[in-house]
Amino acid sequence: MTLAFTYQGTAARIIFGNGASADVGKWVEVLECRRALVLSTPHQAADAEITAKRLGPLAVGTFTEATMHTPVEVTERALARAAELGADCVVSLGGGSTTGLGKAMAYRTDIPQIVIPTTYAGSEVTPILGQTEGGAKTTLRSPRVTPEVVIYDPELTVGLPVAMSVTSGLNAIAHAAEGLYAPDRNPITAMMAVDGMRALKEALPVLLERPRDAGAREKALYGAWLCGTVLGQVAMSLHHKICHTLGGSFDTPHAETHSIMLPHTIGFNAEAVPGLMTPISEIFGGSPGQGLYDFAKSIGSPMALKDFGLTEADLDRAADIATKNPYSNPRQIDRTSIRALLQEAWSGTRPSY
Ligand code: NAD
Repeated sequence: MTLAFTYQGTAARIIFGNGASADVGKWVEVLECRRALVLSTPHQAADAEITAKRLGPLAVGTFTEATMHTPVEVTERALARAAELGADCVVSLGGGSTTGLGKAMAYRTDIPQIVIPTTYAGSEVTPILGQTEGGAKTTLRSPRVTPEVVIYDPELTVGLPVAMSVTSGLNAIAHAAEGLYAPDRNPITAMMAVDGMRALKEALPVLLERPRDAGAREKALYGAWLCGTVLGQVAMSLHHKICHTLGGSFDTPHAETHSIMLPHTIGFNAEAVPGLMTPISEIFGGSPGQGLYDFAKSIGSPMALKDFGLTEADLDRAADIATKNPYSNPRQIDRTSIRALLQEAWSGTRPSY
């Protein structure tokens, strides 16, 4: 076998460990900043206040209006607040929505970011920014949006509700699964993908039984970091394209959509690249599609798009949108097979592959 590849790591600093978020002030200073604005969603406002208190004189305040899909008007309000307070960095505490707000601010101003993730979405280690304006969602990739410091503190995830832990964990697995057949994959991203999926496969069933289990929380967050890193480093294909279509055009919830689609998209693609998908069979058992389906079901994931308000007529439109523009995918895509795949995901049936 000959090896030829390009590997581009990121300059981000990753700090991992129980209690690591207590040192957030140290990292503000390492970035040569003195005036941090702490970001969160309204739901995590109290945690943002605690972080601001912990930062003491290094914090100038909080902005707690982060919301799903990074609406541009929220970003503008956050930038106005940052300017009014003279903030010189942001500390984003939360899931992909809060991280998205910090990235949107950095895209416009280059403000340095420290992210303290509390879900498994993985946005904190990607150069990807999705934003909405006037109801339309657009996605861009830019090194400007990659956060400078990420502090993974498993203790902050013990309160992540079980249902969200499950769907967020499957969202992370989706990044790794598509990374295995990415056209720009390399041996490093493949290692990260396999290790990340294995960690989540081991941790999620434990969290179902014992949501506050420290070892399982640690393992799940470690897996999420690896899977998110894969998302940030290689191109995604059919699975992410369909989830983007469903979320962007039909407003289906992000992590749940990934969880439902994953067995169907990966099973479909595995037919074309069975060798590359072998690690999925080894980790989850059975064929890639059925193994992922059985695993998702066993941990209580939502399984059917029809439970999220989607109609069968919507599937026609979704198939049109998802096959309109060509993109790289290991298996050739045509509207008929994508429509059939969406039908299976809509009804929640076990994939035939
Ligand atoms: P989220 O950030 O929207 O969080 C959902 C809710 O859970 C929020 O109210 C949040 O405050 C709350 N929450 C988060 N952590 C919690 C915890 N530990 N305990 C209790 N409540 C908690 O959800 P998400 O799935 O992390 O992020 C989804 C968003 O991130 C989407 O908009 C998606 O497009 C984006 N995303 C972007 C990328 C990227 O690379 N750009 C990657 C993945 C996701």
